[in-house]
Amino acid sequence: MSKLRFFALKELNNRVPLKVDRPSNKLSDYYASHVFHQKKMQEYLPREAFDEYTKALDKGTPISRELADLIANGMKSWAKTLEVTHYTHWFQPLTDGTAEKHDGFIELNEDFDAIEQFSGKVLVQQEPDASSFPNGGIRNTFEARGYTAWDTSSPAFVVDSTLCIPTIFISYTGEALDYKTPLLKAVAAVDKAATKLCKLFDRNISKVYANLGWEQEFFLVDIALYNARPDLYLTGRTLMGHSSAKDQQLDDHYFGSIPPRVTSFLKEIEIECHKLGIPIKTRHNEVAPNQFEVAPIFENANLANDHNQQVMDLMKRVAQKHSFAVLFHEKPYKGINGSGKHNNWSLSTDTGINLFAPGKNPKGNLLFLTFLVNAIKMVYKNQDLLRASIVSAGNTHRLGANEAPPAILSIFLGRELTETLDSIVEQVGDNKMTPEEKTTLKLGVGRIPEILLDSTDRNRTSPFAFTGNRFEFRAAGSSTNCAASMIVINGAMAYQLNQFREELENLIAKGISRDEALFKLLKKEILESQTILFEGDGYSEAWKEEAQRRGLSNINPVTEALTYYVSESTKKMFTSERIFTESELNSRLEVELEKYTKKIQIESRVLGDLAINHIVPIAVSYQNRLLRNLVGLKTIFDDEEFKVLSADRLELVREISYRVTSIKKLVKEMIECRKVANKMDCYTEKAEAYERTVYPHLDEIRYHIDHLEMEVDDEIWPLPKYRELLFAR
Ligand code: ADP
Ligand code: MG
Repeated sequence: MSKLRFFALKELNNRVPLKVDRPSNKLSDYYASHVFHQKKMQEYLPREAFDEYTKALDKGTPISRELADLIANGMKSWAKTLEVTHYTHWFQPLTDGTAEKHDGFIELNEDFDAIEQFSGKVLVQQEPDASSFPNGGIRNTFEARGYTAWDTSSPAFVVDSTLCIPTIFISYTGEALDYKTPLLKAVAAVDKAATKLCKLFDRNISKVYANLGWEQEFFLVDIALYNARPDLYLTGRTLMGHSSAKDQQLDDHYFGSIPPRVTSFLKEIEIECHKLGIPIKTRHNEVAPNQFEVAPIFENANLANDHNQQVMDLMKRVAQKHSFAVLFHEKPYKGINGSGKHNNWSLSTDTGINLFAPGKNPKGNLLFLTFLVNAIKMVYKNQDLLRASIVSAGNTHRLGANEAPPAILSIFLGRELTETLDSIVEQVGDNKMTPEEKTTLKLGVGRIPEILLDSTDRNRTSPFAFTGNRFEFRAAGSSTNCAASMIVINGAMAYQLNQFREELENLIAKGISRDEALFKLLKKEILESQTILFEGDGYSEAWKEEAQRRGLSNINPVTEALTYYVSESTKKMFTSERIFTESELNSRLEVELEKYTKKIQIESRVLGDLAINHIVPIAVSYQNRLLRNLVGLKTIFDDEEFKVLSADRLELVREISYRVTSIKKLVKEMIECRKVANKMDCYTEKAEAYERTVYPHLDEIRYHIDHLEMEVDDEIWPLPKYRELLFAR
């Protein structure tokens, strides 16, 4: 066996689960111990300063320099109790992760003595070099400098010996270079739009929160095996590997008992999350071998998203300690399920109403139906943009692969709600409604809660499913920043709600009663958007045909799907809600296309190298062994017998020759395609060329390698096989 593979497997025999102790039996003893939340602030800030801070937070106004100094001082005192020595502005650039630059609390005074200092100035703002992060052309036209600025709505936290301050990241001229800036704007926009609409129902409502509850799927693989697979550690996925004789056929992994080493890893993750105030609640095995999921209790979208980014980072570090590598790639292994990140989304009011949950009376139900129908219309109008928010090089392998929703957007409502919407369409006529008609409708609407409680059918194949009190957007990939879809969902919802409210107010201004106006508008919206409602099997071929008949869009190429970031309707929606400027949208598209190009480029290089340097030499050396064997046979046996005895080996020699020649030819072709694409100046054309010409080679080359894996002696195969990556522990 190749040394690399042999030693990797040998390592496994020495692995034992790490012992992990909880800091205390009582969760509340250590929950959020590493977060500078409001209760801690109260403790560490002068009373007036704390009051001023909460006021600024409520109103969304900036804080004064004096206040920032007081907060910085309190923050430092608190951080010292956790033996913190450094601080960092923690931000979310348009890469697949977070960024941080650590600075010590050290300053020199006039006498050049070292003092420990942390001022309001550095708490509030820093200036990292924006040109080192993806910026989609914004850098070319303006200065390279960028700013990070404290997001006062997300609390500072401590990791190891570093105080992390969540910040937004913008260019010198104010353009967003990150995920957080537009997310904060989208969340503010939906708050404003939803609150205005709610006030037509209930004057007590003065704020609407956008909530997010994510579910993070991932794979674990032993670090020794991982390190023996250059494709895994360079690209996040296996670019080759014959399927294991056993994988997920028996469905014996989902919700199965969690292996001890994994349990101790998950236990440590949970403890560390709880210290950081991240309310992790659920953990379980997923469908594929060595695939798992964790999920927290939902929170407001900005905080939830920060927490998701923190968890992903934490998992990578803790995994190493437990001799695992954690894989967030959407499809690390061909032929078995990939990983997604479901985004559970809801809107709730400061009076405690979940706007996606049926109310306790007809009035509450009208509010619920209004938001439900608006969400349906929002998805219908923004199918292409929603898709653009989730497509990526990694997620393509997953979408539509009988495990994740296809590239067609549709909504699952459940039979009862669909019937309720149908009844609105049927019962609301064109003429003025009689009081009896209104009463009947309201009574019908009033029955929703009892019906929904009995409703248990949940459709796992739907990309956008209503699940009783929230919508679950299931198409997002496991490696992505949730903000990408949360910006679109909340921003588009804000736009939709504003339009709806204006129409409603216009009707009311014409003297139509609110309820009648509302029913008429709801009917109109349902009729306009109902083709997006689908209750059947979203994975089936029949649905693809049906969706086409319905005129729903189904765009598979990533590079084409992404262009909807800059379509006329997207620009109109985002600019009128003041979430993105046109130049910011153009830059997002550029960043995404470049990210796509680079990922395919890296995969193609890695596969080319492995094919030529690892696979072909092994195949040829095995072939030589066969040839020596054939020569030996020939010297011993006469022609007749030799023919019979050597037939299978001759066939194998021929087969290996064919595979080796094919691999070499394809790798050469692939390199040529890369060269042509690399010369293109336009980033759109380049990405398209990579997708159209380079990308298909990956599978073609792999096809031959995977066959060789079955043909060549296992003893000399250089890379850990799927059965080892998925099952050896
Ligand atoms: P399932 O796998 O059945 O969807 P999970 O328990 O794995 O269920 O995940 C449910 C997710 O939905 C959790 O992240 C939870 O926080 C979230 N969630 C529950 N209620 C809401 C809500 N009202 N708004 C947003 N997210 C919610
Ligand atoms: Mg779910």
